[in-house]
Amino acid sequence: MKIFTQKSWQNWSGSVSCTPKKIFFPTSEQDIIDAVQQAKYKKQNIRVVGSGHSFTPLIETEDNILSLKQYHGIYSIDEEKCEATVKSGTQLRALGQMLLDRGLAMQNLGDIDCQTIAGAASTGTHGTGLSLGNIATQIARFTLITANGDVLECSETQNSEIFKAGQISLGSLGIISKITIKLMPKYYLKVEKKRCTLDQNIADFTQSINNNRHFEFFWLPNTNYTYTKTMNITSEKRDSGTWRKYFSEIIFENGALFTMGNLCRIFPKWSQKINSMGTSLIPQGEEINLSANVFSSYRWVKFHEMEYAVPLEKGIEVLQEIEKWIRDKNINVSFPIEFRVVNEDDIYLSPAYKKPSAYIAVHSFRGMPYKEYFAGCEAIFRKAGGRPHWGKMHNLTAKDFKDIYPKWDNFQKIRRKLDPEGLFMNPYLQSVFEE
Ligand SMILES: Cc1cc2nc3c(=O)[nH]c(=O)nc-3n(C[C@H](O)[C@H](O)[C@H](O)COP(=O)(O)OP(=O)(O)OC[C@H]3O[C@@H](n4cnc5c(N)ncnc54)[C@H](O)[C@@H]3O)c2cc1C
Repeated sequence: MKIFTQKSWQNWSGSVSCTPKKIFFPTSEQDIIDAVQQAKYKKQNIRVVGSGHSFTPLIETEDNILSLKQYHGIYSIDEEKCEATVKSGTQLRALGQMLLDRGLAMQNLGDIDCQTIAGAASTGTHGTGLSLGNIATQIARFTLITANGDVLECSETQNSEIFKAGQISLGSLGIISKITIKLMPKYYLKVEKKRCTLDQNIADFTQSINNNRHFEFFWLPNTNYTYTKTMNITSEKRDSGTWRKYFSEIIFENGALFTMGNLCRIFPKWSQKINSMGTSLIPQGEEINLSANVFSSYRWVKFHEMEYAVPLEKGIEVLQEIEKWIRDKNINVSFPIEFRVVNEDDIYLSPAYKKPSAYIAVHSFRGMPYKEYFAGCEAIFRKAGGRPHWGKMHNLTAKDFKDIYPKWDNFQKIRRKLDPEGLFMNPYLQSVFEE
């Protein structure tokens, strides 16, 4: 196994960086066990990293990082059950293409597919669709390497409590080495993108989320315009072309966002005018392609992000309150606000635990001030009983989480039992888990 010493690490957005003593690059399950045991022997912490796309300091440590960059690929496929067992470091994009070759596809994905399967599941990463849960709900089984070096098989029927806790666990219970995912036969999606008004989206909301497999919109703050996207399974088998997608996303979505973000950064007082001009660049049109080719978009414009899940029935009310707050406080916002919906589940630390949820994400172009904006939105999210996305910025600590997660104590009991010495902790996770 390759090991780097004193090499610096940083996350995608550049908001978190550290120089750990060692970075391990396992290529096998045994390498993972060896790295865990080395850290334990030296009484040091070890944090596992996927693609480093989380905005929170989940990975930050001065001790050890275990990177899954060289630990990827499919172990086995059960075509009859529509399941695949994969190494936990497998990147979602690569996975999607490997599954297509076997006539299979994932049920849903988020905005990007650069994450690893374990990293995405571990923070409750989600896409959109009222009939669909977050990515962790697609897990049928996983194998967990614990602080003792034990290898635990976990599913609904085997170590079932650890399974429910481990589906979303921020790498705090141990290191997941293998994941079995529930899949579907490969399918085509018809994507419809249009420029719409916020008022129209609000008026049609219930119908839109019930009549489309996937529905989301991006609202441009300080305007009445949205970029609205629906996706539905279609029997039409067409490939609208990766070039068209590339052109639309790179040139228009990223290019326009980059230009608008920079203009807002240099001339913050003009943000409202810049957003109004940006509404004419909202992409429109229709595309049909295999699901693995359409769920995700290219995202190279760097930003900071906070996202909360609020109970579905309060979603629109929360957005309206944010809209009013931005207007009243004259906040300069450089980035669209994203609105998605996700079905409830029964995973202990899922933001959608037992509540169909509206996920509302606020972003800020890197280099723009964001603290006042995010804090104002967070107060509104919290008033509505919101729970933060585990991979995105928030200001909550253990005391707050205890109040909003009914299974918090169950999770904590399992965590303390599996990792009594805090091998998988770091200062950030201490603030999350320790009162
Ligand atoms: C541009 C961009 C777009 C995004 N879009 C979306 C979106 O559409 N929807 C959404 O919900 N989120 C989105 N996110 C957030 C992102 O999906 C999550 O932060 C996700 O966790 C990142 O995956 P990763 O592989 O980079 O994990 P990392 O950030 O590397 O790790 C995340 C957590 O998982 C743990 N972990 C990783 N591997 C393992 C393992 N093998 N065993 C146990 N624990 C493990 C880590 O310790 C850490 O706590 C986006 C982020 C960015 C930067």
